[in-house]
Amino acid sequence: MIDLRSDTVTRPTEAMRRAMAAAEVGDDVYGDDPSVRELEERTAEILGKEAACFMPTGTMSNQVALRAHTEAGDEILADASAHIFVSEGGAPAGLSGIQVRGLPGVNGIFTGDDVLRAVRVPHRFSPKTLAPPTKLVAVENTHNGGGGTIWPLERIEEVARAARSRGLALHLDGARLWNASAATGIPEAKYASFFDTVSVCFSKGLGAPVGSSLAGPAPFIERARRFKQMFGGGFRQAGVLAAAALYSLENHRKDLVADHENARTFASALGDLPGVVIDISSVQTNIVRFRVTTLSPFDFVERCHAEGVHMLGYSPDRVRAVLHRDVSQSQVAAAISKIQKAVLAVSKY
Ligand SMILES: *Cc1c(COP(=O)(O)O)cnc(C)c1O
Repeated sequence: MIDLRSDTVTRPTEAMRRAMAAAEVGDDVYGDDPSVRELEERTAEILGKEAACFMPTGTMSNQVALRAHTEAGDEILADASAHIFVSEGGAPAGLSGIQVRGLPGVNGIFTGDDVLRAVRVPHRFSPKTLAPPTKLVAVENTHNGGGGTIWPLERIEEVARAARSRGLALHLDGARLWNASAATGIPEAKYASFFDTVSVCFSKGLGAPVGSSLAGPAPFIERARRFKQMFGGGFRQAGVLAAAALYSLENHRKDLVADHENARTFASALGDLPGVVIDISSVQTNIVRFRVTTLSPFDFVERCHAEGVHMLGYSPDRVRAVLHRDVSQSQVAAAISKIQKAVLAVSKY
């Protein structure tokens, strides 16, 4: 089975498992796990932030950030298809009591004007009581729901300027920031410099089995540690996991360009199949999204699965495939011929 459902399906390599087995550990809740400490310092360094906190998941990392930035009743702004809004189980409302206002981004990328228009204007006669206070703008780079799209630096600058002009905090959901940097050559720290806090994942394209980190100013990260504990994220001998994350950070970032190349190859071959509609220009990193005109995406995905390619029916009219380090160039070619078989079987009807 060639598994293209997500880049989260990657398995730890032998070398990574050796690093895990050799990891020195302590109790992370007591703050004395040396492997966790080392990962946190290195993550902060790469992102150009004062401190970082290792988290079990990207979801917890984002939600701890939102919890620490806001109080119940606040409003935050994010693209309408942002991961924190649509794929984290309703956590902003459930865990922080805040509401998310969805912005009309294009493939997940919105404008400074979108931010300015969405910020609540205090009521003329009751400025402190009526409107929910807008507190924060969240940017996602690359944008998962947008198809792995990369935020142009000038657009980030524009959004940051708009947010700062209204006194809003800025959070970067950088679960896929490594992909943006691999694709553009712009360092992660440059992207991160516009934001107060940044969340990154080691468990996606980098190939670690588990783990994310939240980075930001030291006092903010100290505060975040309390919410990590509150959300059930105190994970004791986490050094075993931190060792895998650190291994992925030091050894796998450079490999992401191969995933991007495989995604382009896969996308252009798909585009040649009858009944497949794909916008190649939207394939900017390792995510490929396309439409199938001959049958529903869910039926299409079932047929491909029967042929040996696993993908995701993503919405009523779309299919998603994600390239990752456990899919080789030759498996990309194999996947295409399997999908071709599934597609041709249908066009015979
Ligand atoms: C995967 C992902 C997350 C959440 O990460 P988990 O570790 O699966 O909780 C958050 N944001 C984006 C953009 C992601 O792609």
